[in-house]
Amino acid sequence: MREEAEIVKELRELEKTGTLADMNNYHFNNSAKEFKEEDIQFENKNENTCYFDKSFKFKNLNGELYKKLVENSLEGILILDLKGKILFANPAITNIFGFNINEEIIGKNILNLIHPDYRNKLIKDQKLLSIGKKGILNTYKAISTKGEKIWLEGLGCKINFLNETALAVFIRDITHRQKTWSELVKLGDKYKALADMSTDGIIIIDHLGRIIYTNSSFERLCRKNKIQLNGTPFKNFLSKESMFQYQELFIGARKTGKKIKDIELEFLNNNNEIIPIELSLSPLKNINNEFTGIACTIHDITVHKKIERELKKSKKLKTEFMNIAAHELKSPITPIKGYLDLIISDNKSNSNTKKWGKISLRNTERLLDLVNDILDVSRLDSDTMSFNMEKIKPINFLTETIEDVEPIIKKKKLILVKKIPNKLPYILGDKCRLEQVIKNLLGNAVKFTDKGKINIEAYEINDKILIIIEDTGIGISNYELDKIFTKFYQAYTGNDRKCEGTGLGLFISKEIIKRHNGKIWAESKIGVGTKFFIEIPIT
Ligand code: ADP
Repeated sequence: MREEAEIVKELRELEKTGTLADMNNYHFNNSAKEFKEEDIQFENKNENTCYFDKSFKFKNLNGELYKKLVENSLEGILILDLKGKILFANPAITNIFGFNINEEIIGKNILNLIHPDYRNKLIKDQKLLSIGKKGILNTYKAISTKGEKIWLEGLGCKINFLNETALAVFIRDITHRQKTWSELVKLGDKYKALADMSTDGIIIIDHLGRIIYTNSSFERLCRKNKIQLNGTPFKNFLSKESMFQYQELFIGARKTGKKIKDIELEFLNNNNEIIPIELSLSPLKNINNEFTGIACTIHDITVHKKIERELKKSKKLKTEFMNIAAHELKSPITPIKGYLDLIISDNKSNSNTKKWGKISLRNTERLLDLVNDILDVSRLDSDTMSFNMEKIKPINFLTETIEDVEPIIKKKKLILVKKIPNKLPYILGDKCRLEQVIKNLLGNAVKFTDKGKINIEAYEINDKILIIIEDTGIGISNYELDKIFTKFYQAYTGNDRKCEGTGLGLFISKEIIKRHNGKIWAESKIGVGTKFFIEIPIT
């Protein structure tokens, strides 16, 4: 047995140079020394100490038990001399390395089974074990008899074997674990590459709100590098107002574990410039379901905000233009309409003149309707439509409106069914504007119905008045039911469409009802008819 001092010296040398001077002295051949009837003796001589005879039969009382443990262990167990020669191997070792029978492995040097890159590491560990270091757990790459690379985890201790110092080594095959791990590392690398490619800032914040990961886009946004950013609380990069908002979000995400998306905040970069951002948070948890931090994406919305401002500006300009144009158009229409009325009613006009006058008047009225609708839209867009709110009885404005529309219903030979109770409670509203809505809905019902009936009903339901206008007309497809309430939308625009209109009536109606804290919606079936619903709160 070599002196401990000598081994320690070698180890120092190994630390210094990274290689072993006597590497060549390790013989990687099968010059196994036959052992005879001597015993193996584990170092600590407590009651579990066991002794082998030459056929590995345990001599003491627990011998059979130990033998069974060794033979059936899934972990490989080796006994090596101090140069690494294998003196004993249990069946698991045979399986790990792919030997057919146990005898094939005895006498080989363990270094022969280890990948060349890992031999130095193993020699160093053997030396440490031989001077009494315990429990060295290390990972080694090895090569099976089929030439496949395998990964092993080894734990060893010094023992007394055949009256000589030897090493007992416990080996676990961790190839599968290593593969999974390297897959995970690869996956991690992929995500890292993706995060680095992202134009959005991506950061990970720990449970105390400190930054622990940043991608390059975030570094660019802050004008700082990773080292400067790591460990800094994320709140330091927010304006005062946004800081409080963010802290609430952080607490919320920690409590609920739920994702939070697209919150607009103000970000402060290194030059103290304010950058509008959209922040999304996704809480992270460990295997025990404990909160460990938050993954955040930070989207710079400077350009978006600029476009939004420009859009608002141009929308304002458009509304102003529409308002001016409509007013300018309206001024000449009023006298034209007046003169046409005169021509039609004048006794001196002949029948042809009267006929042409009537056509012109009808078209002038259509033009006036359009101009009035445009004016209403521009008032609604600029929030300048005035509402003369008062307590009104639903029966009053409904009956008056129906009276106005009745002639055209009769003219089309449609049946009108009214079901409006006298005693409906008061609502708070602008009578003229509500009449405008009902007139538009009844007008549409007549326009889009060629035969059948038109129903108008009103009820009191849950502190609200519900008005229903139903027809047996052409109907509207499900796909278009929501769209008809948007500006200039006309549901059926085929060549055979007979009905005139601007596509503004329902938009105006919806906005008017909204300003009465009410709701308007429709249900319909193509070819069967349409039902419009209006809900207005009772005062
Ligand atoms: P318009 O002036 O075109 O009638 P509206 O905004 O009042 O404008 O209506 C928008 C579109 O909704 C209409 O062009 C029509 O296609 C559809 N619509 C409205 N009411 C009905 C109805 N009762 N039956 C069938 N289609 C309707």
